[in-house]
Amino acid sequence: MRLQIDSDALAGNWRALDKLSGQAVAGAAVKADAYGLGSERVSATLLAAGCRDFFVAHWSEVPALLRHVPAEAIAVLHGPNNAQEVRFARETGVRPVLNSLHQIGLWRNGGGGPCHVMVDTGMNRLGLEKADLSSELLSGLQIDICMSHLASADEDTSQNDEQLAAFAQLRSVIAARRYSLANSAGIALGGAFHADVTRPGIALYGGIARAELAGHIRQVARPEAAVLQIRTLQAGDKVGYNALFQADREMRVGTLAIGYADGFLRCWTGRGCFHWNGRRAPTLGRISMDLTIVDLSDLPDCREGDWLSAAYDLPSSARSTGLSQYELLTLLGRRFSRGGA
Ligand SMILES: *Cc1c(COP(=O)(O)O)cnc(C)c1O
Repeated sequence: MRLQIDSDALAGNWRALDKLSGQAVAGAAVKADAYGLGSERVSATLLAAGCRDFFVAHWSEVPALLRHVPAEAIAVLHGPNNAQEVRFARETGVRPVLNSLHQIGLWRNGGGGPCHVMVDTGMNRLGLEKADLSSELLSGLQIDICMSHLASADEDTSQNDEQLAAFAQLRSVIAARRYSLANSAGIALGGAFHADVTRPGIALYGGIARAELAGHIRQVARPEAAVLQIRTLQAGDKVGYNALFQADREMRVGTLAIGYADGFLRCWTGRGCFHWNGRRAPTLGRISMDLTIVDLSDLPDCREGDWLSAAYDLPSSARSTGLSQYELLTLLGRRFSRGGA
């Protein structure tokens, strides 16, 4: 199994988002192994494109990134939870995002240094609360980015303006070198949301977080699977677990080396489709753990060993499966080799 990554499209998406960010510069959310695409390759490509701010969630995600990206360009969103993580940040020069007074205390006790701060403006997930902002612990912190996160930027809702208003007040309360609010969808909300740095994730990888982004963003990731076996069915023959498909005519079918253990979940049953030389091979019957059966009727010249490409455009795949565009990428498993141009 291969996950083809189109590096040109990835770099192009970053440049498009950087441009759409107006006065602000675009960073990149590369947490969760760059949404499953492979953080080393992705971060090297984005660095070459001009990206200078990289956001991961966990400390364990830092070493892979450090092979390509300068330490001070790496921000760890979860922040430090113990003295060891503080020591790791200070030794490497990677910057923690401090989310609570507890984390600020840990950082100060460990010696402090340049850091970022997350403030909650209405999502109630991570970040300092309003009441925390007057704490003495904040004075003298070397804050690079003061950031907050939008809960519903993919919707048209008053919550966006409420969060923007709360964020605007922060400038007079927290002194930082830079301010940051927008994720991918937030970039499409317009200039008021851009501040100094934007933090796109899903749109870098081909996700259309809001309709305004369509036309700017290209597909980046394409799963491919090899044909292991081809057979000819007769009318009445049954296919796969629980015989969810039964042939009503003679038909040529192929078995592909991809299944739900690879993140090609059972919700693709009856919906999935693969492509080969511009022709379609719809899935037949239930998706198995390691295997998927497809209809090769329109691919008479396809042979065992050939590779088929899954139809994996994120917005339409999300609509047909009920999975989010984020899940469609982060699900893709470890058995994929990640490569491509
Ligand atoms: C994941 C994340 C992002 C990126 O969000 P997208 O919706 O993928 O663009 C930005 N900021 C924070 C704090 C995040 O956790």
